[in-house]
Amino acid sequence: MSQCAVCNEPTKNKCSNCNQIFYCCEEHQKNHWKLHKIECKPFKVEESDELGRYLISTRSIKPFEIILRESALISVPSQITGPVCLVCLNGIEPSDYIECDKCGWPLCGIECKGKAVHRAECDFTAKRGTKKCSRNRFFKTTEFDEDLIMKTIGILQINGHEVPVTDPPHVSVFSNASFLEHSCIPNLAKSFTREGNLVLWAPKAIKKNTHLSICYSDAVWGTAERQQHLMHTKLFKCTCPRCLDVTEFGTNYDAFKCTENDCEGVILPSSLKEWNTHWSCSTCGNQADISFIKNILERAGKDLQAMDKSVDNCIKYIQHYQKWLTNRHYFICQAKIQLVQLIGIDPKELMVVAEDKLNLKMEYVKELIDLYEKLAPCEIRMLGNFCFELHSAIAEHTRRISLQTTLSPKNMLEKSLLYVEKCINYLQHECDLFVEGHILKQAKINRDALRMVLV
Ligand SMILES: [Zn+2]
Ligand SMILES: [Zn+2]
Ligand SMILES: [Zn+2]
Ligand SMILES: [Zn+2]
Ligand SMILES: [Zn+2]
Ligand SMILES: [Zn+2]
Repeated sequence: MSQCAVCNEPTKNKCSNCNQIFYCCEEHQKNHWKLHKIECKPFKVEESDELGRYLISTRSIKPFEIILRESALISVPSQITGPVCLVCLNGIEPSDYIECDKCGWPLCGIECKGKAVHRAECDFTAKRGTKKCSRNRFFKTTEFDEDLIMKTIGILQINGHEVPVTDPPHVSVFSNASFLEHSCIPNLAKSFTREGNLVLWAPKAIKKNTHLSICYSDAVWGTAERQQHLMHTKLFKCTCPRCLDVTEFGTNYDAFKCTENDCEGVILPSSLKEWNTHWSCSTCGNQADISFIKNILERAGKDLQAMDKSVDNCIKYIQHYQKWLTNRHYFICQAKIQLVQLIGIDPKELMVVAEDKLNLKMEYVKELIDLYEKLAPCEIRMLGNFCFELHSAIAEHTRRISLQTTLSPKNMLEKSLLYVEKCINYLQHECDLFVEGHILKQAKINRDALRMVLV
């Protein structure tokens, strides 16, 4: 039997939030809360040779539950950035900044000079007598050796999170979040508060004893792109369930169509290992020429980048590349994402959009939501946006129907409500620094209005 954390009395009663500490009675739990609340989290740190340290859930986690809020251990400018204030990390203009009179580093203004986060860097630079980098020894210090400095830079690069609350975004390292594993199909989503604090939460339920993960790459990219990006930036080969399953959970997100004798199958690599060598049809066995595959992908990528983004061009692109790529291929989907954003971009425009375009928008957004809920359920900002778009399109469609007929479009309104509620779930932790925070506000207004109508 375990022991009470306060009096060591044997007990079976656990703290229900973390499942990791025991109390003999409510009173001892209450007394201990001041100390325990810092550690009371529904996960624990484990260690293995293969993964190093990682996080595992210590109880089941409900959908949308926040599992961790933490402030940064350290925040620094991005590796590639224009000049920024070294205190608040916002961009500065060549004509509008000050130099700290003690250390000489650029600051946005007098308010930032006095802030506590500047003191360590300011004192250190002033002590050295210069902020300038000499050719060989940037830091001009013997206090820390070269190896330690390089190691520290490595830690920032591997563990840093891009924090978009400044313009340009900066990089922060967080304590617990540094133990999170990567997966291309993660179970946690990241949001940020105005202050740049990290909020980690679960878009879907998580079972007890599950590895917790976030995506270090972009879950909207195809497998080859994600693999390459992770190798270059984080120095490892991803073998997550999504990368190992070449069909990406049956979505065929990377697949070509088989063109052999009306075969309905799809062409994919035989396994992740054979990505650059063997592609064949899963139905008829037809082998594909790898140089042909690469050629089409290269052209599809270049054309998408170079394309003037208009509704007609997106439609043409989709029609053209659907000759070879499946209708849920990531390049086709990227064009569809552009397209649904271009059709009726604001409420006024939506009211005058042609009927066929409105229908196309509804069809594609629905398809994208269904696809990415399977493939990238933690891309919550994108999913929230899509749900809002679909809600608006359905509402507009309903408005048009009710103008023409006396039919009650109740089921359409219910659908519109369903998607605005989904939108609110996805965006509920977004602050009003971001577009998504504003969409969230509007979504709540629309939801309340729809509920009134439907009562
Ligand atoms: Zn006790
Ligand atoms: Zn606890
Ligand atoms: Zn500043
Ligand atoms: Zn200073
Ligand atoms: Zn992966
Ligand atoms: Zn085939």
